[in-house]
Amino acid sequence: MVDINITKNVTAESKIDAPCGKCKADTKHLVLTDVELKGREATPDYLIYGWDESYQIIQCLGCESVSFKKTHQNSEDEDHWKGPDGYESSYRVQTDYYPNPEEGRGSIEDEHLLPAKLQLIYEETLGALNINHRVLAGIGIRAIVETVCKDNEANGNNLAEKIDSLVTLGVLTRDGADILHKLRVLGNEAAHEVTPHDNVQLGLALDVIDHLLTGVYILPHHAKAKFS
Ligand SMILES: [Zn+2]
Repeated sequence: MVDINITKNVTAESKIDAPCGKCKADTKHLVLTDVELKGREATPDYLIYGWDESYQIIQCLGCESVSFKKTHQNSEDEDHWKGPDGYESSYRVQTDYYPNPEEGRGSIEDEHLLPAKLQLIYEETLGALNINHRVLAGIGIRAIVETVCKDNEANGNNLAEKIDSLVTLGVLTRDGADILHKLRVLGNEAAHEVTPHDNVQLGLALDVIDHLLTGVYILPHHAKAKFS
């Protein structure tokens, strides 16, 4: 039996942080109206499958544009990762915005200075993100990380170790590596389980990629040209 419970205006009039496609930044948004849905279904093996969703119409307090935010989480979808104290897990919240705030996202400055192969993967990944092809964007992000590791002769038997060795090589900060580890998992899932990730996670992932590529390929090029 499926039990659906809907409540309205639970978060109305509150303020939340959300990406604004027009301001091209995270800005404060006012929740104009919302619906929260809780679904529960008893399964044949006496377990309860549950899902929680929220639907909010929100308004940017900068440019006043109105958009739609949907979140979804369910009792089957957990994230597992290795934290400092061993393996941890939490329910994965998938958040989507409409219109896609990443639409019209531009490439990094001096993108033409990237190695040809990397530039191609980067452009295709950016293109996928712009039209909300999230599985392909996730796979592309992983391919970029792999290529950067290879170019920098990152040591290690697997991608996780190679990302850590980018920190040792001094081309990546610890914080950047932590985010890349999450991207690695993200790309894994996109490639092997075909799980699309939300456009906000992917946008954040590409922010990290932009910084990494700028630091590894573009700034050294300018430094060489100016100081040698
Ligand atoms: Zn705005």
